Amino acid sequence: MKHQRQNLKKNDLVMVMAGKEKGKTGRILRILTKKDRAIVEKINFVKRHQRPSGQQRQGGIIEKEGPLDLSNLMLVCDSCNRPVRIGRKLLEDGKKARYCKKCGEIFDK
Ligand SMILES: [Zn+2]
Repeated sequence: MKHQRQNLKKNDLVMVMAGKEKGKTGRILRILTKKDRAIVEKINFVKRHQRPSGQQRQGGIIEKEGPLDLSNLMLVCDSCNRPVRIGRKLLEDGKKARYCKKCGEIFDK
């Protein structure tokens, strides 16, 4: 089966639909394409141990956003103010754009 094309992009506002962070919203900071995961701003903080390095004398525990499965994220439509399904259509200028299947709002202007 062909891999489903990913509809989410960097800077999209998304809501987490499953898991312990369910219901939270944030902007996508980074897409990890090969892993089908994304880093979302201020969501899914994981603690990491950091070793002391040359620049920083002290090691310790830092908190950093951990990756989330893209399949658990949905784009939030500004007009609907809720997570929505995304469609794709061809604009008059020939570009493909994502749109909200609920209200028709075009996301990629
Ligand atoms: Zn909408």
